[in-house]
Amino acid sequence: MTRERVVLALQQEYAARREENLRAYEEKVNDACAHCQGLRGLLDARHSALMSGLRSALYPAKKDLAANEGLASTLEAYNAKINEKLAACGLPPDTLAPQFVCSRCKDEGYVYEPTRRMCPCFESELNARMLLALGLKGTQTFATFQEGIFSDEPMLGKLSQKVLMKQNKAICERYADAFPDTDARDLLFTGKSGLGKTFLMQAIAHRVTLRGHEVTYISAYKLLETMRKAYFANNSEWMEPLMETPLLLVDDLGTEPLMENITVTQLFNLLNERQNANRHTIISTNLNLSELRARYTERITSRLLDASRVRVLKFIGEDIREKRGKPDQGGNDA
Ligand SMILES: [Zn+2]
Repeated sequence: MTRERVVLALQQEYAARREENLRAYEEKVNDACAHCQGLRGLLDARHSALMSGLRSALYPAKKDLAANEGLASTLEAYNAKINEKLAACGLPPDTLAPQFVCSRCKDEGYVYEPTRRMCPCFESELNARMLLALGLKGTQTFATFQEGIFSDEPMLGKLSQKVLMKQNKAICERYADAFPDTDARDLLFTGKSGLGKTFLMQAIAHRVTLRGHEVTYISAYKLLETMRKAYFANNSEWMEPLMETPLLLVDDLGTEPLMENITVTQLFNLLNERQNANRHTIISTNLNLSELRARYTERITSRLLDASRVRVLKFIGEDIREKRGKPDQGGNDA
């Protein structure tokens, strides 16, 4: 779902909420007037004074300067009388106050100072819906990343898994914070299962979504299904959202069944079109380079590894899923 469509749907919900507020407000006023003799007359008089004041301000030719200048004090006087009346009727002073779900934007969804922008209530609802549409649980984020689960033991070249993962995390976080102005346009995560690739991909998707960008996250298995549908229906519309999304994340390339005609051709077209349009793509795979070449041809592999556009992040070390035994927490790559 595109962000624009979610914004539109939300704007409609806010408009309906405002109508409901207005209806509830009128009901409240009617109730108060029914219980408080003389209140209706005061409210009507204040309304007339306000209207004639606005008219004289809008049409200078008919301007009644005295009425206009006195408007504020006239309204104040009415307000004082209305408050006295409410008190005399035993009604609390906020009886006639309109009720909003959000007092900041009065349920408009937008605030106007210093410039028009989304109210935080609107923005956080929008982000929540975008994350939901992304299909992620939102538990795998940079904030929940736990470097402590990675080993301190030096590996090849003296680097420990923990240091390597801290470096990978820093690169991913910088990428997400800079998007779309990233150093490398694309990322390729290589390494066996259970080393934290999925976790960091989801953390990027989460952060970039919260920064207001559209993101598509898809497993290679789902990607193959979509490519198959497009192939057999001979209809490229299936592929359009994947072609056009500003950031596409494909998880676990190499685990999907291989259907040579479909996988190789369609995957090449997808990568090629995205690269020509300069759109960002992040792919994770548990295959090494020679396995990638064998499975997807040199043509695709050279695109996946194009050093001028793609940064390769290596994931090596121990499978953290075995160590933790908790499939759903930080570092899980399942
Ligand atoms: Zn608000």
